[in-house]
Amino acid sequence: MKLNERGLLVVISGPSGVGKGTVRKALFEKRGHNYTFSISMTTRKMREGEVEGKDYYFVSKEYFEEKIKSGSFLEYNYFCGNYYGTPLDKVEEALDSGKELILEIDVNGCQQVKEKMPDAVTIFIVPPTKQALYDRLKGRGTESEYKISERIAKADKEFKLAYMYDYIVVNDEVKNAADRITAIIRAEHAKTKRSLHKYYEMLGDIEK
Ligand code: 5GP
Repeated sequence: MKLNERGLLVVISGPSGVGKGTVRKALFEKRGHNYTFSISMTTRKMREGEVEGKDYYFVSKEYFEEKIKSGSFLEYNYFCGNYYGTPLDKVEEALDSGKELILEIDVNGCQQVKEKMPDAVTIFIVPPTKQALYDRLKGRGTESEYKISERIAKADKEFKLAYMYDYIVVNDEVKNAADRITAIIRAEHAKTKRSLHKYYEMLGDIEK
């Protein structure tokens, strides 16, 4: 009997610089996982070490705006001078194949997803302390001073939005944060609202 066939849409979000990307990578390093990463499209310049089609699809502003017009995004946002968006085509495909689709997106994007797909599981990653996040943003070494203060200002606003999420996960240690997310996904699958109909099917005739 297979009770849980459709995959979950899991949104990993949180303030800029909290380590969402690192936590997501740790999640994908787990053995025997069943996750697919939703590769976003962006107009931001590629950073050293990033790979086209693995980290992002790097495109021009014109191309991105065409895709907006043709309704090709589940959600998108303009963040610190660049567009970021989740291409719609892969979303249903991944979920129907029973895989968990992991989106790593900003707070604004998460709000849009929740409106369109209320069944999505939303996780807010938080730092152990506020200072830890500031230090991380400053220490990343990939951004100019101006960009750093822009990201800090954005993070300060985003701290206040945790209440919108289904779960809050502290990123004290990357491995711990990834373990917590795995536990959340397991528990979500066991929720009655997700598995009851399949359970009834298994039982056959029963008064519901
Ligand atoms: P970065 O430039 O550091 O790679 O990403 C900047 C921010 O954009 C991060 O908070 C990241 O999670 C977010 N982001 C990445 N992809 C998407 C996306 O497809 N949609 C939205 N809304 N945000 C995204």
